[in-house]
Amino acid sequence: MIIKLTDKKLLKLWGQAVIERAGFKCEYPDCNVHYTQLHPHHLYSRRYVTMRYNLDAGISLCPYHHTMGGLSAHHDPDFKSVLVATGVRTEEFFDRLREERNRIQKNTAAWKLECYKKLSHYL
Ligand SMILES: [Zn+2]
Repeated sequence: MIIKLTDKKLLKLWGQAVIERAGFKCEYPDCNVHYTQLHPHHLYSRRYVTMRYNLDAGISLCPYHHTMGGLSAHHDPDFKSVLVATGVRTEEFFDRLREERNRIQKNTAAWKLECYKKLSHYL
C-alpha cells in the first residue's frame, strides 16, 4: 500500500494521537474549564523536525490552557515549569525531549514514514 504522507496529514494524525493518549482531556493540572474542544500543543516548536510529529512533544489542552488564558501555553513563560512542579511531566522528560529537539534531522519521506508508523497505533 502506498500512502502519500503529506505534512498536513501527519500533523492531523499527531494531534489526534496526542488527544487520545491524554484520554480526551486537558492535561493542565486540575483543569476545570468547561470546554468542548481540545487542542494538541507542541511543547517545543514544530519548526524542529524532531518535534513536529513526535508524540512526546505533544500535550492535550483546552482552548483556555492552550492560547486564551494568562496561564496558557502560549502566554505563560513558566508553562513547562508548572507541568514539572505539578508532576504532569518530569524534569528528566524535558531533558530527553530537548536532546531530541537539538538533533539534526531532515524532513525526508523516510523520516515521515518512520513517524507515521509510530503514530499509526492511534489510528
Ligand atoms: Zn484546561
